[in-house]
Amino acid sequence: MAAQKTIELFQKIALRSLAPIPKISISEWADTYRMLPLGSAVPGHWRTANVPYQKDVMDCLTDSRLHIVALMWAAQGGKSEIINNTIGRFAHLDPCPIMMIQPTLTDAEDYSKRRIAPMLEETPVLRNLFGDPKSRKTQNTILSKFFPGGSLNIAGANSPSGLASKPIRFLMADETDRYPDSAGTEGDPIEIAKKRTTTYWNWFLLLTSTPVNKGASRIEDEYKAGTQEEWQHKCPNCGEYHLISHDQMHCESETFIDSKKEKHVTVKAVAWHCPDCGFAFTEQQMKRAPQKYVAQNPDAVRAGRRSFHVNAFSYPWVSWETIMSEWLEAEGDPDKEKVVYNTRFGLPYERRGKITSEKEFLNRREDYGAELPDGVLLLTMAVDTQDTRLEYEIKGWGLGEECWGIQKGVILGTPDDKRVWEELDKIIDRRFYFKSGVSLKIRRTFIDSGGHYTDEVYKYARANVWRQVFAIKGSNVSDAALIHKYTFLKDKGVYLVHIGVDSGKEHVMNRLTMKDPGPKYMHFALDAQDNGSTDEILQELLLLSKQKKKNSSELVNKFGYVVRRRGYDDAYFRALISEAKLPHKVKGRIVYQWEVVATDKRNEALDLTVYNLACMSSLAPDWESLEKALKEDVVAAPPPKKTAKKYGVIKRRE
Ligand SMILES: [Zn+2]
Repeated sequence: MAAQKTIELFQKIALRSLAPIPKISISEWADTYRMLPLGSAVPGHWRTANVPYQKDVMDCLTDSRLHIVALMWAAQGGKSEIINNTIGRFAHLDPCPIMMIQPTLTDAEDYSKRRIAPMLEETPVLRNLFGDPKSRKTQNTILSKFFPGGSLNIAGANSPSGLASKPIRFLMADETDRYPDSAGTEGDPIEIAKKRTTTYWNWFLLLTSTPVNKGASRIEDEYKAGTQEEWQHKCPNCGEYHLISHDQMHCESETFIDSKKEKHVTVKAVAWHCPDCGFAFTEQQMKRAPQKYVAQNPDAVRAGRRSFHVNAFSYPWVSWETIMSEWLEAEGDPDKEKVVYNTRFGLPYERRGKITSEKEFLNRREDYGAELPDGVLLLTMAVDTQDTRLEYEIKGWGLGEECWGIQKGVILGTPDDKRVWEELDKIIDRRFYFKSGVSLKIRRTFIDSGGHYTDEVYKYARANVWRQVFAIKGSNVSDAALIHKYTFLKDKGVYLVHIGVDSGKEHVMNRLTMKDPGPKYMHFALDAQDNGSTDEILQELLLLSKQKKKNSSELVNKFGYVVRRRGYDDAYFRALISEAKLPHKVKGRIVYQWEVVATDKRNEALDLTVYNLACMSSLAPDWESLEKALKEDVVAAPPPKKTAKKYGVIKRRE
């Protein structure tokens, strides 16, 4: 029956054009053959009319004048279905070698199992072509599938071997903004794969992604190079077409702040105001209004490129109330704003707040009036290992990850000297006091194992794991999460925490731009209850290392073994904002990398802040119970010796 349908379709097309190759567009193919599995939103026959903004995209993928099409879309707009229909149409009617790239090999396997396999199973014309997946005779695997006259390979952008295979005619790169800058050491993953298309005159590259960071977004670059077609809605009053945008929305909403200081917004009504005529319309009215793509850069067609942008305001399955609630909740918090920008607005995110100079931080320092200011519920410590010293910083954390700089300092000596670690012991063992007399100890310590004293760090972490001391290592995976993974080094008998330093720096910079105290805000102490200036001592250390002298006994005589500095000074802030994401050309592609821009090249302050943030987040604190426990302590204070309840993760006054 399917075969009969095919013949009929061919006849229909043959009547329309005398072209020798059947010119069935992907949307026509999908409407005729594609079946959606039971688990999908609308199971049964595919209907392009259900999601109109997908049609032009699917139809241009068989346009022989084009070579590159880019989709910069909000998340969950059906990009995968376009990819699936493309695979189906080409495998069925115009067989050729097809490759799809996913960010990682794991993503590739996952996509194959969750997306491709159900399509092949449900769609009769494809089931016959690809063979029975359960048959043992088939040579098909999860990442490599064959059909008469062609094949489908699915690769991970992190794995160069999968990218450099046989010639490809149709290349699909999905979620490009999550690709590493280089596949292993081989260079840009898309460029590696693209080289495989050179044997075909009719090669095609489809790039799709939800964008990530402004200026460092692969899909934004490709979108700009294309026709920049926005999905626009017609204003029912004045007839002008507009891309629906969050800044044209007027909301009736209620906001409340919960006990964790989290903001919650409920949008009760939302209306879109036309920027041309000012008339207001509801979601229903605008979703029913005529819609079409409007190109901002139509000439790109001549270069063989088209590009499309759709945001979630046009998606049939997301309500405007949902999107606007998310946006109003996120406003003011760059981490959250970025998620809404990327996944809902389909736009790359650029931090709105800017850090101008270290001066602004000097002005916002505070006198805590005690060692620990009220609000702190948890203490973490980060330690950086250098050839001549350990540098450490202690941070206090409160509701919503509000953060207070508590103390920073330098322990003089080379890390193979036992004495250095004994000094660190003393800091880990000491108590820090609130005005009320209640005290906290450092809950967890992260020590960087990079540098020349890795074994010493392992040794200390192994001996002190019971005091929550962990060795950490910066991950070289470019988009690694702040806590990337934990590994156990059998031969060393030590746990190693792998940290996504780049994403950590992003979080820290975002938080530094926040101007109002509250969740995620970073406080810095003004008072200087210290025994010397860390800056002064670091300058002297620098001098010693320039003279190739490792012996710091002179300095120890002058300053003591441990130099603590409580007040944060301009040298600290210079180091804290010492890095910026700058463009570099790596193997022909512009990539953005964190780089020290400060003139004195010191960046320990930023590293320590990232390690402390990772340390806190590894504890996954339950702020409410920490707060409750501390309140009970305040009631019981001031007697210093008392058996306290042990709550959550903090142990007090044993
Ligand atoms: Zn209007």
